Amino acid sequence: MHLSSIGISKRCFLVSLALCALLLLLISTLQTPQRQGEPPQPRPHARPTRAGRGNKPHSTRNATGHSAAGNVKDFSVTRPHPPEAGPRRPEGNAPHASLPGSQSREPLELKDIFIAVKTTRKYHKSRLQLLFQTWVSEAKEQTFIFTDGEDAELKKKAGANIINTNCSAAHTRQALCCKMSVEYDKFIESQKKWFCHVDDDNYVILPSLLQLLSSYSHTQDVYLGRPSLDHPIETAERVKSDGSVSVKFWFATGGAGFCISRGLALKMSPWASLGNFITTAEKIRLPDDCTIGYIIEALLEVPLKHTRLFHSHLENLQRLRTDSVLRQVTLSYGGFENKRNVVSIAGGFSLAEDPSRFKTVHCLLYPKTHWCPHNVHH
Ligand code: UDP
Ligand code: MN
Repeated sequence: MHLSSIGISKRCFLVSLALCALLLLLISTLQTPQRQGEPPQPRPHARPTRAGRGNKPHSTRNATGHSAAGNVKDFSVTRPHPPEAGPRRPEGNAPHASLPGSQSREPLELKDIFIAVKTTRKYHKSRLQLLFQTWVSEAKEQTFIFTDGEDAELKKKAGANIINTNCSAAHTRQALCCKMSVEYDKFIESQKKWFCHVDDDNYVILPSLLQLLSSYSHTQDVYLGRPSLDHPIETAERVKSDGSVSVKFWFATGGAGFCISRGLALKMSPWASLGNFITTAEKIRLPDDCTIGYIIEALLEVPLKHTRLFHSHLENLQRLRTDSVLRQVTLSYGGFENKRNVVSIAGGFSLAEDPSRFKTVHCLLYPKTHWCPHNVHH
């Protein structure tokens, strides 16, 4: 480096060149493009799948129940629970949560979320009532109950949006897919930004849901939920091909609830709207939640964002740390009598008074609720 041989003017020139470059860089970082306003992309026509090779026999028997109850592994211990660390924070790969543009986006409100609750006539009293008493009462306008039988009493008392799907009340794949199909169409009609589906044995922690969805844009392709299996499901590809190739995909278990952005939901339309959902489910012969995963992961090639903030009773709910319960997005309960599976949380109600623990959770979240014991939360 013969610096001394370079003339002063040449050095000055180099310095000013560097300054110019710095200035340009500064200007370009200040002018971040507005990404959130992107309109949803037009429907893609089917692209070739990244299907598994060969004529593997399909291993779909794990998913005969709507929540793929067979061969379920609870893998919630494979990685520490993120919400336990520090302040509430959506987990996973929120793509642009920290981009400068996300600050200027108008904040997501509860009214932007469409919450679909799947139920059936026989659970109106035993399950739905508890939901109305608890979380649904805080989200009346945006919660829609999808059932299969008229219930004047429920309609009067709930004052909520009860939708009789006229689907069969059987717990069959066809009946459940029929309900999901109606849920999808009602969401599209609603113009809301997010579609979230839950079962009638889920508690939705609304502030956590709002916070989680706030870190994504509804115009982007977002599919959020919790798989019940520790591996993707594999099935014969019968929608875009003749079934001679197989396809692997993840799906979010319906029993833990899942959410889909409007942008993505619109792209699902060719396979999900106006009865097409039932046709798609029949072709691949899988339950409703698997069919959702199939359309999104296999057909649209949008990966599921795995989250541990959603919970079904397929996992051991007792394992959820008490101090993290209120930071979850959904909870569930199962088996009261001999095989109790509920979250472990203490509050104003005993196990006998509140076997699901939903009332206890609710009173910790909303202590001013009139039926909550007044010493709770202090
Ligand atoms: N369900 C339904 N029709 C039925 C039975 C159940 O729509 O005939 C609904 C039920 O209301 C719940 C979901 O399907 O929202 C799952 O049912 P359940 O919790 O009984 O079963 P699991 O979670 O074990 O699959
Ligand atoms: Mn259930």
